Amino acid sequence: MKITKIISHVLQYDLPEELGYSQQYYAKRSAHLVEVQTDEGITGWGECFGPGNIAVANKGIVEGVIQPMILGDDPVDRDVIWHKVYNLMRDHGQKGMPLQSLSGVDIALWDIAGKVANLPIHKLIGGAHRTSVQAYGYGMMLKRESVDEHSARFADEAAAIRDMGFVATKMKVGLGAKNDVKLCEAVRRGVGDTFDFMVDANHCYTTPDAFYVGRALDELNAYWFEEPVAPEDHDGYRELRAGLRTNISGGEAEFNRWGWRQILENRGLDIAQPEVCALGGISEYLRVLALCHAHHTPVINHVWGSAIAVATNLQLLAAMPPLPGGLFPREPLLEFDTTHNAFRDELLIDPLNIQQQVAQSGGSVKIPTGPGIGVEPDREFIKRYSI
Ligand code: CA
Repeated sequence: MKITKIISHVLQYDLPEELGYSQQYYAKRSAHLVEVQTDEGITGWGECFGPGNIAVANKGIVEGVIQPMILGDDPVDRDVIWHKVYNLMRDHGQKGMPLQSLSGVDIALWDIAGKVANLPIHKLIGGAHRTSVQAYGYGMMLKRESVDEHSARFADEAAAIRDMGFVATKMKVGLGAKNDVKLCEAVRRGVGDTFDFMVDANHCYTTPDAFYVGRALDELNAYWFEEPVAPEDHDGYRELRAGLRTNISGGEAEFNRWGWRQILENRGLDIAQPEVCALGGISEYLRVLALCHAHHTPVINHVWGSAIAVATNLQLLAAMPPLPGGLFPREPLLEFDTTHNAFRDELLIDPLNIQQQVAQSGGSVKIPTGPGIGVEPDREFIKRYSI
């Protein structure tokens, strides 16, 4: 079998309302799907992390840089292809957009391998440790409104996400450390004393500000404190983890085994959040997962993007061994964005219907068992939203 063509589909639409996190407000939803075609009629699908103009630039890397390196190669040889592409790009980008681009291609190659074997990817990896996974719902985005308006809205929204059936919820912060503590208190009030909530700072704090918020989170019994400081600030992560009771999480902005080796050896994470659509695809994710578990660090995948990314993560969550194991081990969770996303809810011929599954099952989502990533996108839908 030979790779005959690689196409990047960059999709975009205007969101019904502007949303924000600690770094920016945004008004468009975008997704970057990668399609790998073969001479035997089998097509694989993958996705690259990176919105808006990042996706547009990554399309150039996928089609203009990676495609010519691997046209004619056997798509099932995905590890050989990974190393060929990485080695040829290494001098120009060991992190960031080249790795995001390689990720989408690699996921599509795994989809092809699954379709060739007529097996879901979790079977190719080694089998399902679980047939369903519990989901947490994130929302509570920033808007151009006052702290008090944020607090009232966050309390209501946190309760609404709990009532949708999700097993935990995650909020954004980013209004400044003192105001952010008020938002966290509002969310705790909204969900009640026993429901888990998590806080995502998207690396907006200095270490002292992160300690200020983190001490409040210790009092509020938050589950985890995500990306409190810049991903480059390994010392800050280590100090926060040593000084706070709340779990410190992060890693969505880290790439490949060598980047992950550094943050794990630094001992700054209680929970690792690798992003398969950014760090180098499934081939590299499996190596990063092994590294995390070698450091006895539990993994809860970062999930963002379209139904292709969600389906890919469902395959990986099925195949993730419990750490450290036991009768009642702490299980991984599926991250689910509760804000408007047509690329997740309407892209597939057979939708995953995650919100409905969560509502009906008390928070869990079934692992797709079809070949490859287990889902197929609707080409008409892709045509309609392509830019
Ligand atoms: Ca995050």
